Amino acid sequence: MGQLIAGARGAGTGEGDLSGKRAVVVGMARSGVAAARFLARRGAHVTCNDRRAEGDLGAARAELDAAVAAAGPLAGTVEWRCGGHPAEIFRDAELVVVSPGVPADLPVLHQARAAGASVVGEVELAFRHLRAPLVAITGTNGKSTTTTWAGDMLQRAGKDVFVGGNLGRPLLEAVDRERPPDVAVAEISSFQMEWVARFRPQIAALTNLTPDHLDRHGSFEAYRAAKLRVFARQRGGDAAITPFGFEDHFVESDQDHFRFRLGDKVRPGASAQGGEIWLLGMPRTEAERYDARSVRLPGAHNLENALVAVLCARLAGAPADAVARSLAEFGGLEHRLELCGEIDGVRWFNDSKATNVDSTVIALRSFEAPLVWIAGGRGKGAPYAPIVELLGGGRVRAALLIGEAADEIAAAVGVAAPVERMGDLGRAVARARQVARPGDVVLLSPACASYDQFNNFEERGRRFRELVRALRTVS
Ligand code: ADP
Repeated sequence: MGQLIAGARGAGTGEGDLSGKRAVVVGMARSGVAAARFLARRGAHVTCNDRRAEGDLGAARAELDAAVAAAGPLAGTVEWRCGGHPAEIFRDAELVVVSPGVPADLPVLHQARAAGASVVGEVELAFRHLRAPLVAITGTNGKSTTTTWAGDMLQRAGKDVFVGGNLGRPLLEAVDRERPPDVAVAEISSFQMEWVARFRPQIAALTNLTPDHLDRHGSFEAYRAAKLRVFARQRGGDAAITPFGFEDHFVESDQDHFRFRLGDKVRPGASAQGGEIWLLGMPRTEAERYDARSVRLPGAHNLENALVAVLCARLAGAPADAVARSLAEFGGLEHRLELCGEIDGVRWFNDSKATNVDSTVIALRSFEAPLVWIAGGRGKGAPYAPIVELLGGGRVRAALLIGEAADEIAAAVGVAAPVERMGDLGRAVARARQVARPGDVVLLSPACASYDQFNNFEERGRRFRELVRALRTVS
């Protein structure tokens, strides 16, 4: 069994001098801005490139200008060439940094590589310069929750933790700090794994793998391969964490493989059953037990996320007591089954991020208590049938429907639960207050996009929170 990972070595080995290098950054959203700033500060001559015309780039240009100004005099230069990908800017490039939104089959990228340029993603660039151990978390679902949770455990252990990647701040910001963090915990999307070469996290975790993003990756096999690439460069002493059942993938590799599942115990790995979480075969302790009942986040899926977070945090050096505290206190991310109030024995959950039927199915499965369910918005055309099965047996006191999709949802679910059309969120919350009884859960899990009545799901979720808060003050 390998050593505990933290402190063993920095993740990246550094990369030759960037000074004077000709670099192109393709895709000027947040990670592109971070890459351009990073390179220019180190003396590279950077061309910022985007398919969109400069005028359509929103805040990117102003953000970069501000970031560059804040960094003091630049060692390098920055110029902008937008509104397409002209071949000439790639022709003599030595380094091309690709943002995750850019299609991997863009011809100029392959031409640049053929001409001798190093073509890397922002995550690869960050890895090469990062002087801290790296925990990388990927998977179809639960990445943000698990990443934030593992970061919380390490923070409670008093460590200086960078949490970011696909979530929040780009990983390059962990490199650009005055002092490197003790550990970096990064959410990594499958798109970010398209342009990696040496990327080798000391701890890499896969939360789960189900068909998703097939439009971009072409097939499930290609998507699976992109996700599993996170483990490809790991060696002895590194740790790979996967759901139970990925053993075949590790037969020929020499990193330590930790597995997790809801059910019987796993060694080495983590399991949860009967109100207990068990870790077996960890580097310094043979067996550890945690209280699964103390976990605040609802649902079996969040218990799986907890297992991954615990494995990551323990392997990265968080002591057991910090992990136990985080299990009991971590409140989850905004808009994802977020507990936003408890009034007269009724718990109110904001799951505004559930903009499709699959997410709402997960939310409805997460509760045993009777439910008052608020749903609707702009439908996405997927059938609501998978939801209907979960509403039966009288467990849903009322389905309160809002927005454009109200009639369609009513037609689908009316057989299984009492349905009321409320029009907007304000009326739905007021009605939920009347219908819910002590012990119930009121759940906003719309199964729809928000755009008919809100700018985005965040605004919808914030409005729900405000409405719940207002109920508390009048009650
Ligand atoms: P991601 O960053 O991978 O999109 P999040 O942590 O933001 O994941 O969670 C988004 C949604 O995915 C949640 O609201 C929930 O519906 C679902 N989800 C979260 N964790 C899991 C899991 N372990 N398995 C299946 N679905 C999950």
